[in-house]
Amino acid sequence: MSNYQQITIIANKIIKKYDLCDNCLGRLFSKQLHLTSNKLLGKKLKNNLNSTEKCYICKNLFDNLGHFLKLMLDTSSDYTFTTFCVGAMIKPSIVDRDDFIRSQYKLKGIDSVKADITKELGRLYSRKTKKRIDCLDPEITFTLNLKDELCQLRSKSITISGRYVKSQRGYQQKQKPCDNCSGKGCRICNFHGIAEFDSVEGVISKLIFNKFGGTTAKFTWIGGEDKSSLVLGSGRPFFVKIQNPFKRKARLADTTIDSITLRNLKLVHESPKKSLKFNSTISTTISTESNIDSKSLRKLKDLIINPVVVYEKSGKRSEKKIFEVKYKKNSQNLFTLVILAEGGLPIKRFVIGDDVKPNISQILETPCVCKEFDFLDIEVQ
Ligand SMILES: [Zn+2]
Ligand SMILES: [Zn+2]
Repeated sequence: MSNYQQITIIANKIIKKYDLCDNCLGRLFSKQLHLTSNKLLGKKLKNNLNSTEKCYICKNLFDNLGHFLKLMLDTSSDYTFTTFCVGAMIKPSIVDRDDFIRSQYKLKGIDSVKADITKELGRLYSRKTKKRIDCLDPEITFTLNLKDELCQLRSKSITISGRYVKSQRGYQQKQKPCDNCSGKGCRICNFHGIAEFDSVEGVISKLIFNKFGGTTAKFTWIGGEDKSSLVLGSGRPFFVKIQNPFKRKARLADTTIDSITLRNLKLVHESPKKSLKFNSTISTTISTESNIDSKSLRKLKDLIINPVVVYEKSGKRSEKKIFEVKYKKNSQNLFTLVILAEGGLPIKRFVIGDDVKPNISQILETPCVCKEFDFLDIEVQ
């Protein structure tokens, strides 16, 4: 007896007892026969016998796929993408009846009714939109709730890297999170997690939300500065991950907004997993309690000999190398210090001498205060 004849016998047994739709009946045997269309096989096995009863397993869910396809098309109409995947939640009773039939007739290695529905919806959506199914790394993931007839969409995050130059004092680097949701995203902040846009983070976020849409933007900064610091030269590098973007591509030209210039903006694979090593050229204006003379200032040159040790309250200890030291005396109690140092050296603490050794106050043997510090350049190693 051929494989097909054996299958016909079992299929006949099943349909004598249970009404099944073409899709469900065909699904039980299509893998075994290496066929792709469950529906056609089901039709053939039933000998075009049409039943008026609803399918025992799915209650004719497959007749209603057009409705869910429309739901998917409506939900995704604002998104630009090329790949997608479909997931579904179906009534547990459908799954139970599917399992029951499969175990009663000892049918193994076949698709579940849920897998068949998502496969079918994926095929319909792909045919309609020319988008490609990719369930390993989809740009868009649909989750259909077939019970409540809802469609959820998740868009994979995108990451952009770039640099910013801050040519005027007065911009905080980071934006204060939304008061209402503490940054998680809520209706008040339009799900952005920030409600105002008056910082470097705010300016970049606004530009990105305009170009790509999206909910929250998560930043990774390569170092930080004060509100009163300038960031010059080629600027400070940053990475920003945008959740749920509408668009995945856009022209990213250099742009200046107020006194913030954004450069080298580009889409990248992801934010760095480990913190990047970088060096900063920092110019700092320092006032001293006692008068200073050139002889004591000259001692600052020795800073390049050994690394500066930074102690944190947590007990953490780190070393920062200083590679270059230049200084200029401005008056009896004021001088400018320019250093090239390993990224992350806490400048104010380094000047005052707050758990940083050696430090400027200690070297000059007089209490010193950092009036201002600016970044002349930042280079990533
Ligand atoms: Zn069915
Ligand atoms: Zn909020």
